[in-house]
Amino acid sequence: MKLFSWNRSKFVDCPSCGITVGKDSLICRKCGMRFETRLDSGYVGEAIDHYKKGIREQKSGRHKEAITHYTAAIELLPIYTLAYNNRGVAYQESGEIENALLDYEHAIKLQRKLAVAYYNKGVAYKVLGKLQHALINFDVSIRFNSTLAVAYDHRGTVYQSLGKHLYASKDFNTARRLKADTS
Ligand SMILES: [Zn+2]
Repeated sequence: MKLFSWNRSKFVDCPSCGITVGKDSLICRKCGMRFETRLDSGYVGEAIDHYKKGIREQKSGRHKEAITHYTAAIELLPIYTLAYNNRGVAYQESGEIENALLDYEHAIKLQRKLAVAYYNKGVAYKVLGKLQHALINFDVSIRFNSTLAVAYDHRGTVYQSLGKHLYASKDFNTARRLKADTS
């Protein structure tokens, strides 16, 4: 499963689509989302603070606390797509897969091309043993982001389980190549 996070202090992830934007921007150049306040002030800044705390808790394995922060972020900023995605991962890591799926769905409803949400949905279906559903979601995730190595890895294991070994090894090779490219 995959979280969104960032580390450069002058920049944040657009709450809606995840690309890096300056904290002082009022509109996202990729998804077109307009921010009513600067991303480091007002209720939007508060939502982003909760979101960051959520990531911190989640990375330390405190999923309940993470869920609380993501929920607070969503209450402040209901279009916070990435908070839905990450809360889904926190639910999934606490074994609440149905809640996780609802959050991924919600993220996708807000941002139809959010590859990572399809990827996470695929992983959830894989855990549930619904391999065809998993496959469809990995397909879509790769269509929207053809460099998401983990999606190829997971799709490869699904193909393997379905006995489609040729497709599987193709996916594993692509994943390996993408990982080599980024390391
Ligand atoms: Zn955006």
